[in-house]
Amino acid sequence: MMGQGLDTSAYVHFPWCLKKCPYCDFASAAIRRGEVPHEDYTDAIVRELEGRPVAGRRLESVFFGGGTPSLWDPKALGRALAALRGAFDAGGDLEITVECNPTSIDAEKAAALREAGVNRLSIGVQSVNDGRLRFLGRLHDAAGALRALEAVVPVMERVSADLMFGMPGQTADDFEAEIDAVLATGVEHVSAYALTIEPDTQFGALHRKGRLTLAPEGDFADTFERAREVFRAAGMIHYEVSNHALPGRTSQHNQHYWRGGDYLGLGAGAVGTLNGRRYKNDPRPERYLAAPAAAEVFEETLEPDDRVREALMLGLRTDEGVRFDTVQARTGLDARAGRERAIARRVASGDLVVDDERMRIPHERWLHLDGIVADLF
Ligand code: SF4
Repeated sequence: MMGQGLDTSAYVHFPWCLKKCPYCDFASAAIRRGEVPHEDYTDAIVRELEGRPVAGRRLESVFFGGGTPSLWDPKALGRALAALRGAFDAGGDLEITVECNPTSIDAEKAAALREAGVNRLSIGVQSVNDGRLRFLGRLHDAAGALRALEAVVPVMERVSADLMFGMPGQTADDFEAEIDAVLATGVEHVSAYALTIEPDTQFGALHRKGRLTLAPEGDFADTFERAREVFRAAGMIHYEVSNHALPGRTSQHNQHYWRGGDYLGLGAGAVGTLNGRRYKNDPRPERYLAAPAAAEVFEETLEPDDRVREALMLGLRTDEGVRFDTVQARTGLDARAGRERAIARRVASGDLVVDDERMRIPHERWLHLDGIVADLF
């Protein structure tokens, strides 16, 4: 593969939202629309980029995540994108994604983003049921979410929607109806996540007080399996535990990450990994904006063993699995070494499929992913 080892994805974090959702532990702070420092944030991104060792690397994909990067003025976002292309050895045909919320995207904004070089939108729909959207503390309602999807699908080359399951009282039938409604808009990709309760969130606090419970384990498993059937019937491939796409429409950015590729992280709270060095930027936007360069708050060097474990953790989430030659090229280690007995046991029980090239977990065992991976650590 051309430029292998130096292929790099870029993740740009935009750290603001119009409102903080009660379940969210991403680096994001609430801001009023009129107060977003559009150009200053681009300037800070460009400053950070100038200090990152990316010359000679080939840019694989760009993902503007958040937060709500669709609040960023498309021209200012486009300036950050142009700087990225200029800093790398960038091919013409890159996947460039922007995360959006239904309240911050419409046909006009999508056209402006396309003009800026964006070719993929990932829209945080989460639900198309008004009661569940209220439970999630979202600003949009079901009609608004579907309207946003219908408006952008004809404008943007590629559109993905995020959906959530595992909410109290949400059955597999409920989730199937939500998937059907979203697929009817023509999206080519859906990320279907289970709601999890993170400790440092409002939901975390409610959960500790016994005032919030999620769907029981059995309902969760039924919904996960039902979702797969519904997506499959729609011609989509379940290519990662939480992701479904029409053939040829998988997210290149996420696949690069699951394959353990290097990624440049830019922006407040962004994490990056280049040449086995992992760093995290200061998540406080005001600190990031004021910093003369990168404003890192954390760094570590990943040892080859750590990188193998990470490759297993990420690769086994996908239908592609873990390729032994890729892991060997990146770490100098054979991913099977020292795990022969655990692998043999899991192969015998049907949890793993192994050939000379790779190992993977068959779809029907994906619900047991965590236990299988833990066994291989
Ligand atoms: S819109 Fe997304 S990133 Fe922003 S607070 Fe809600 S879940 Fe978090």
